[in-house]
Amino acid sequence: MRRLRRTKIVATLGPASSDQPMIARLFAAGADVFRINMSHTTPERMRAIVAAIRAVEAEHNRPIAILVDLQGPKLRIGAFTTEAIMLEKGASFALDSTPTPGDAGRVHLPHPEILSALAAGDRLLLDDGKIRLVVEKASPKQALTRVDVGGRLSARKGVSLPDTTLSFSVLTKKDRTDLEAALDAGADWIALSFIQRPEDIAEAKKLTRGRAAIMAKIEKPQAALCLGEIMDASDAIMVARGDLGVEMPLEKVPGIQKQMTRVARRAGKPVVVATQMLESMITSPVPTRAEVSDVATAIFEGADAVMLSAESAAGQYPAEAVATMNRIAEEVESDPTYRAIIQAQRAEPEATGADAIAAAARQIAETLDLSAIVCWTSSGATALRVSRERPEPQIVAISPRLSTGRKLALVWGVHCVVAEDAHDQDDMVDRACRIAFKDGFAKSGQRIIIVAGVPLGTPGATNMVRIAFVGTETAPQE
Ligand code: PEP
Repeated sequence: MRRLRRTKIVATLGPASSDQPMIARLFAAGADVFRINMSHTTPERMRAIVAAIRAVEAEHNRPIAILVDLQGPKLRIGAFTTEAIMLEKGASFALDSTPTPGDAGRVHLPHPEILSALAAGDRLLLDDGKIRLVVEKASPKQALTRVDVGGRLSARKGVSLPDTTLSFSVLTKKDRTDLEAALDAGADWIALSFIQRPEDIAEAKKLTRGRAAIMAKIEKPQAALCLGEIMDASDAIMVARGDLGVEMPLEKVPGIQKQMTRVARRAGKPVVVATQMLESMITSPVPTRAEVSDVATAIFEGADAVMLSAESAAGQYPAEAVATMNRIAEEVESDPTYRAIIQAQRAEPEATGADAIAAAARQIAETLDLSAIVCWTSSGATALRVSRERPEPQIVAISPRLSTGRKLALVWGVHCVVAEDAHDQDDMVDRACRIAFKDGFAKSGQRIIIVAGVPLGTPGATNMVRIAFVGTETAPQE
């Protein structure tokens, strides 16, 4: 079973899509990665969803990636004596450490660490950015603010801090419990929410100890400012446009999306474009023209994956939303302008053997019109470097490690097959041809290029390219 596109699809699971038959439908429609959002899922429920995904994976014998998205520090105000208050522009309003219900002049902020971190001039955005306050005077007990954009405010609305860097860890107690549960359940990717600094990723890496790869969600302006360091520290990034659009002017988000895609492509690490991609499909079986164009833009930029959130988690048309993304990706990737646009952003190879070989393999495959680039990869590193080249032929990655196959399900252009390591170079070539033939990437009489590190299984030892004919005897012997 093979996909006819390079860009991957991430589908968030939720009340509309967590049972096994629906997960199977989403997979058949094109989902390569399933995301479980821990903001709305208990560890028990997460374990049940993981089991359902793994059952679908076993049924189709194709590696599927599971991305568990940790909630991160969700900051909220306290309650009011009335149902809600009205904040008028220019009025004074305090947030303080007193745990009593608030009124039109004040409210409790049950996060002492924020009160300590606020400084005069910092903005506080309440209720998804609908209300804006500016701090005039701050102390560890109280922040006195001026209302810049007013409105109705009710209890326990969310608080965003676009100007304040918090020194405490972004991993909350709930995140740590959820992380352990996710690793225990066998998650392949862990997404970290509201990270601000590379140190936030280092902490998560220490806890995961290589058991899952780490994806940094870029949703804070502070994180966008140190994107390079965050990219270095993490295994992938997500353009989390929902919260980014709350904390910075909406019109800045498309530019940041382009910058992030380029930084990730240069690093050779996956980038996921997320949020509101087909938002209208929550209630409609067809998307808007603008949404189709938005998905297409991410694909033209060479993003590894496009993501569905509420569309697949809680919408009325989850499978239709996945099928729509699938159709858009197939169409964009066969557009006559696609190759030129993708190539324009290709980064030069770094001065390593793996990059030199990946670049050479792409060039040979494109010059000779070979059917596929087949790479033997243990950790997935070789496949990532070949994918960084965004080659025209599809990449087939063969790995003895199921965890590598699952992780690579997120990566642009990579079709992963889990198989035991080859015994020697002849076996490596022979089996690469058979797998390319069996999975529909090469016909008998066509040629493929094989990339590997010899001896096999030595990390970072990519040192071999070989062109091979897919013979007529390949089919009956398989
Ligand atoms: C986002 O803010 O765009 C995002 C993906 O995060 P979440 O859905 O977890 O709020």
